[in-house]
Amino acid sequence: MLYFIDVIIPVPLQKLFTYRITSAEAEFLKPGMRVAVPFGKTKIYTGIVHHIHNHAPTAYDAKDIEQILDEKPVVNAWQLKLWQWIADYYMCTLGDVMRAALPSGFILESETIIVKNASKEIKDTDLEDDEFLIYEALHHQSSLKIQDISNILDKKQVLSVLNRLIEKDAITIQEDIYETYKPKLVRYVKLHKNHNSEVQLHKLLDELSRAPKQREVVLTLFSLSAQTKKPVKVTDLSKASDASSTIIKTLIDKDILEEYFIQTDRIQYDGEDNEDSKTLNEYQATALEEIRSSNEKHDVTLLHGVTSSGKTEIYVKLIEETLKKGKQVLYLLPEIALTTQLITRLQDYFGEQVAVYHSKYSTHERVEVYNNILENKTKAKIVLGARSAVLLPFSKLGLIIIDEEHEQSFKQFDPAPRYHARDTAIVLASFFNAKTLLGSATPSLESYYNTQQNKYGLVELNYRYNNVLMPDIALVDLRDKYKRKRMKGHFSDTLIEEMTETLKEGFQVILFQNRRGYSPIITCQTCGHSPQCPNCDVSLTYHQYRNQLRCHYCGYSMAMQMKCMACGSPDLDNKGFGTEQIEAEVKQLFPDFKVGRMDLDTTRGKHGYEKIITALEQQEIDILVGTQMVTKGLDFRHVKLVGVLNADNMLNFPDFRAHERSFQLLLQVSGRAGRTKERGKVLIQTYNPYHTILQQVSTNNYIGMYQEQMDERFTFKYPPVYRQIKITLKHKDYSKVETGAIWYAKSLRQIFGDFVLGPESPVISRIRNQYHKNILVKIPKKQSLQKTKEAIIKINNSFLSIKDFRVVKVNLNVDNF
Ligand code: ADP
Ligand code: ZN
Ligand code: ZN
Repeated sequence: MLYFIDVIIPVPLQKLFTYRITSAEAEFLKPGMRVAVPFGKTKIYTGIVHHIHNHAPTAYDAKDIEQILDEKPVVNAWQLKLWQWIADYYMCTLGDVMRAALPSGFILESETIIVKNASKEIKDTDLEDDEFLIYEALHHQSSLKIQDISNILDKKQVLSVLNRLIEKDAITIQEDIYETYKPKLVRYVKLHKNHNSEVQLHKLLDELSRAPKQREVVLTLFSLSAQTKKPVKVTDLSKASDASSTIIKTLIDKDILEEYFIQTDRIQYDGEDNEDSKTLNEYQATALEEIRSSNEKHDVTLLHGVTSSGKTEIYVKLIEETLKKGKQVLYLLPEIALTTQLITRLQDYFGEQVAVYHSKYSTHERVEVYNNILENKTKAKIVLGARSAVLLPFSKLGLIIIDEEHEQSFKQFDPAPRYHARDTAIVLASFFNAKTLLGSATPSLESYYNTQQNKYGLVELNYRYNNVLMPDIALVDLRDKYKRKRMKGHFSDTLIEEMTETLKEGFQVILFQNRRGYSPIITCQTCGHSPQCPNCDVSLTYHQYRNQLRCHYCGYSMAMQMKCMACGSPDLDNKGFGTEQIEAEVKQLFPDFKVGRMDLDTTRGKHGYEKIITALEQQEIDILVGTQMVTKGLDFRHVKLVGVLNADNMLNFPDFRAHERSFQLLLQVSGRAGRTKERGKVLIQTYNPYHTILQQVSTNNYIGMYQEQMDERFTFKYPPVYRQIKITLKHKDYSKVETGAIWYAKSLRQIFGDFVLGPESPVISRIRNQYHKNILVKIPKKQSLQKTKEAIIKINNSFLSIKDFRVVKVNLNVDNF
């Protein structure tokens, strides 16, 4: 009898590939194990065994496998089932899913570049002979390809040696990695608690009359804290009192001053005793009860709780219960970089049981976390991660929490698999009969609609923890302010007054502007020309800091021009404004305060994001200007005012979800204001203060927003009322895309009639020299999704069999965002 295996290979080809194996190999192999297989003329890939059978392929001669790489499966049966669901539902290949699901250290292939792990010294005695040869070679050469390694070992089968070296942490794969950030702590001083009372203080000052310099330092400390109403840094005190650090140290040693650090709760978990979880207040306790009883009727429950209502502490209780049953928890978040606060909080409660899966961690760390989950180790009972964590090898899942479930980053946009992690998680949970809890202050219409259809349970939490009031949200009419000449740059007098007041009280301000750069469009006043990106159909954005014009789609940049490139006129005008311009204006308006900026440009560098967060926490920044990055779940104690410079451009964005998103973004950014006793204030500047969305934001009226938006979705047949699949065609030759798209849409119309829209050019019709055309298929809920997809795949296959169209790239995006 002949034996074969079908193998998933990480390439975007529809089919599985069949390879020949011996009967002994057939005996040994199991689905989910890795094998090294030849592919094409010269390539070697790591593939996953899908199943073992006895049927020779008819279309080609099956090749032999190169080598078996595992002794046990690295992909479990639930994963294979989930991969299949994703491939079917999101219309992609198992290979696409495999690439997204496995840490790259698992899928060595011909192109992989191996480097030495510089952060670890490995003893020669810990290495086998073949391992040593490779390790030694990496002393002389900074990197090696698989072929080089074959040459060194003088054999073809090298992936298993490399896998061993990866497990030993001796080598790693060349890629960008992320290191955990340790904030540099700022030293602050205050008066020692021994001298806090009036009497003690007088006594102290008397005593110090014999040491005038020391006395002066103490008095300077008083005046500094009275002036700034903020913690006083050692360096500032030393400067202001002209005292050496030795004098300050003496005062600290004498217990007159006390040194301290503001480190909030972001330090690394040190393995100390775990804390008990917090006692819930009555609203939280009721919500928890409601979730429990909802779980008896529903697999999925939505917790709609206002910002700062204490949703996390409720999650913690549910996690405790799940762990007691010996089950695993998956905790999904929109972006892991933004969650240092949360990681520490969970580690305080659950210690070592918390594992974080981060796409930017090193290969070794990811492989380690993956294996810990695969083996259901205690170290990985609670898995915290962004989107791709839903693809990890769970085997005893009891609970999935999806925090900020409305965030669009849960949907992968490019490349395939274009999956939605929330929806995929719900499917995953169903394999285990596990419960899913969605949390948000501003739920997606999709999820809220599901609660109204009684598909999901709904639990509401309407009070902030500790009776903190919701911020007071006011709208500022820009048209009126401009008319009455009450504007300074992009700041209304109202915003300036509120900022002045807030800063005077020692609180911080966050300013939100949804665009980065200085100004998005430069126009010649004489001929109307504005500089365009040569690769994309967009204007270049002016970045003052580098004096450059930059494309936000492909990264193209050129030096800023002093004269119009078309007519030579020096008369250039800026249109629109970004964070950079706002930062510059704030610095002029408030020269005595520290201004920080958080956007893609300032957070790109290593730890850029963490440095800004730390500076804000340590009150090194008084005013933070930023893009939507500042709206994400940050919990700062001293932010009292949030200003939105212009709410209009996001409301006018041409997308059926623009209004829903604006509502979510504005309420989320408002949630950053006044999270402690002091009531926060939010000012939203706009040309349309009567816009219904802004009215709904200012009254925190989620239901009003929901009903009105749903009316529109019904009228215009948009999700969640209808499903939709977006088909994008791309090619560098415009006429190819155009004729192809017309053909494609016509074929679709023959089946789906009026439910096909397009082809249309998107707002940005060319990106990186590729022209885009979109076709949209709307699918009524009653129509079979399966049949619809089959029909689309058939058309797609015919399309790709036409010679002229074969070169056109087609992306299928199910439930597109
Ligand atoms: P949300 O996630 O709903 O925005 P959080 O869970 O971050 O809110 O809670 C807001 C703040 O209130 C946090 O600092 C948290 O530690 C605190 N908090 C919430 N619930 C409790 C509780 N039961 N006991 C003590 N502090 C709590
Ligand atoms: Zn010109
Ligand atoms: Zn470009």
